[in-house]
Amino acid sequence: MDGEPIVFRRADHGARILVVDDDALSRRSVRAMLERGYYTVETAEGGEEALALLPSFQPELVLLDIQMPGMDGLEVCRRIRELPNGELLPIIFLTGDERPEMHAQALRVKGDDFLRKPVMPAELITRIRSLMRLKRLQAEIRAERDSLLDLQKQREQLFHFIVHDLKNPLSAIQVGLELLDDGDQAPDSSRPHLHRLRETAQAMGRMIQDILDIGRAEQVGLELRRMQVPLDIWIPRLIREVEAQAQSRGHGLAWECPTGLAVDADPEFLRRVLMNLVDNALKYSPSGSQTRIEARPVEGGVRLAVRDQGEGIPEPMREQIFGKFVRLEEGGPSTRSGSGLGLAFCQLVAEAHGGRIWVEDNPPRGSVFVMEIPTAGAVPSA
Ligand code: ADP
Repeated sequence: MDGEPIVFRRADHGARILVVDDDALSRRSVRAMLERGYYTVETAEGGEEALALLPSFQPELVLLDIQMPGMDGLEVCRRIRELPNGELLPIIFLTGDERPEMHAQALRVKGDDFLRKPVMPAELITRIRSLMRLKRLQAEIRAERDSLLDLQKQREQLFHFIVHDLKNPLSAIQVGLELLDDGDQAPDSSRPHLHRLRETAQAMGRMIQDILDIGRAEQVGLELRRMQVPLDIWIPRLIREVEAQAQSRGHGLAWECPTGLAVDADPEFLRRVLMNLVDNALKYSPSGSQTRIEARPVEGGVRLAVRDQGEGIPEPMREQIFGKFVRLEEGGPSTRSGSGLGLAFCQLVAEAHGGRIWVEDNPPRGSVFVMEIPTAGAVPSA
């Protein structure tokens, strides 16, 4: 079989192969086979010598005898795998040992392949070629994955900068609209339009803030400024903020909270969660319906709920809608503006407080978004 012709691929020409074997005859014969195939060969007669050669020779594949005095092939393989990028170096074991457990041991130390001595040139070259091809593909996939990750990071940064830069011009628009709406220059006929513009600008502002906060939370987590929030005073104040918006859409707002109930939370994040939920309730309910904010104590914490009489959310979507960019009516004929980020933000806030948020049915019509916040240190009740 020694004279059998072998077709070599260009990619393998000159590839550096390190042959490690304590038997001089074996080293010589393997070197001859490889050099006939135009590989660049270096040999080592033991484990220590092989490891010492790695930095200068930089092999693209290692042929490793298992039984060697001193450091055996299994140990050499283990050490190579621990080196930076060592897990990518193709290693083929060569051994005269016929015991099946030898094979298992070789794979356990993360050898790639196993050949029995005396090795046939055709088999040796075929295995080398296919292993190198496999490793090349693996390296290409890794490089592609790394560049995709880089690209994704760059896109996220760009997205963040753009969104961040929208904040200032939007604030200027909001101030301008407020001056117009609150002053007496605007004719009465334009007031409804001004109102609508103010609402739209506010919703945009919330969207921008949600995007920025989600980005920050994903990188470093949300930084909470917890304090005791007296819900029976705080909820009616929040309702006053959205009353005009609700009225202009023909919605009723109501609330319910036992006197003296407080929650240990970040009031600003809590406010934005409830604003998002109420905003959705108004957006996804027909005119004439009522939205209620409810708060009550539960074991170990407080439960807050926003109950609407809207279109409801189909059971299979109830978890998914808390994902980023998930919208149920994307592209539909009655598309209402939104980013699909509001509920993702609400979930981040609930989790940052050690709590959770979910949605239930509100029979006969609508949904209830429920958020439970445990008393600091307590576990939320089921
Ligand atoms: P957005 O409202 O900006 O689309 P959200 O993350 O707040 O994003 O909501 C995700 C999706 O969940 C919405 O697009 C909508 O389809 C659905 N949804 C949210 N709140 C309600 C609700 N109160 N009633 C019905 N559907 C809702």
